[in-house]
Amino acid sequence: MNAKLTSLPDDLLDWYAVSARQLPWRLGPAERATGIRADPYRIWLAEIMLQQTTVPHGARYFLAFTERWPSVEDLAAAKDEDVMAAWAGLGYYARARNLLKCAREVVALGGFPKTSKELIKLPGIGPYTAGAVAALAFGEPAAAVDGNVERVFSRLLALSGPWEKAKAQIRSSVGELVPADRPAEFAEALMDLGATICTPKRPNCLICPVRAFCKANADAEAERYPIKAKKTRKPHRTGHVFLLTHAEDILLERRPDKGLLGGMLGLPGSVWREGEMGEMTGAPTAADWQMLGQVRHVFTHFSLALDVWQGEIDGQRPDGVWTAIAAVEGLPSVFAKAFGLLGRP
Ligand code: SF4
Repeated sequence: MNAKLTSLPDDLLDWYAVSARQLPWRLGPAERATGIRADPYRIWLAEIMLQQTTVPHGARYFLAFTERWPSVEDLAAAKDEDVMAAWAGLGYYARARNLLKCAREVVALGGFPKTSKELIKLPGIGPYTAGAVAALAFGEPAAAVDGNVERVFSRLLALSGPWEKAKAQIRSSVGELVPADRPAEFAEALMDLGATICTPKRPNCLICPVRAFCKANADAEAERYPIKAKKTRKPHRTGHVFLLTHAEDILLERRPDKGLLGGMLGLPGSVWREGEMGEMTGAPTAADWQMLGQVRHVFTHFSLALDVWQGEIDGQRPDGVWTAIAAVEGLPSVFAKAFGLLGRP
């Protein structure tokens, strides 16, 4: 460890004392001064929600969830479909399923485990979330290293290889710096630094509290880091989706539990295949199908374009989840976009 770097926590924490972001799951400085620790349920929920979404977007969901399910016991007792519907719009639905699984395991254990080593054994909890919950709720001097912290450290240390390969080095560097008496503040301070100053584009080095320790800044090359491995292009898939109505009802379908958007309500449609859009297939029944337009969505591993078809029937209804059009809610984003083309309330 660079001897100079060992003084970094002091400067960072001085800055944090006056610049900490106020977020709904955080303790304020006054609460922290009394020795209170954050609620592990709120920290865990926030960290799971904030993975790959913005803080304002995630915060809206956090407030809605904690109002409806104020404790891990309440969440564990919730119906699967209620939680999946409340999660709609946050994406990554496997995360919502793991959220429920985890809540139920925590309740069966009698509460959240208190160490990162134990936390990481729970469904959906990776090294970052385990470190964050352990540090923020239980005071363990654990490293909470997410993409923001990785970016900050790849700049501080001017890591020359692709940072994806330097994760272990970054984790150990952060781990060596966590002050034993203030792990929670240190974790939050690093998150805040990455979110507000050492941002992905145009880091504001001039006002950075740790610039004296930063190799990238000394070389005037902050934006060169993190050096990323070459990206491979995402595959592109196409398919068809159907808005079949009968009077004031529309046909929805419950997707299989396993797989993409598993367990969610969706719209009937074709298989999504790689390549250019093909002829219409996968219609749930014969009807005078009219094309309304196309919707696009980007998932983690592929991009998707769906042609959206509308049809109306007045006779025998095919099997499925028939729902009043006015009552449709909680569809995953890709289906919500398609449903939006129907142009009815
Ligand atoms: Fe990031 Fe610049 Fe601060 Fe270095 S000096 S940590 S590059 S904001």
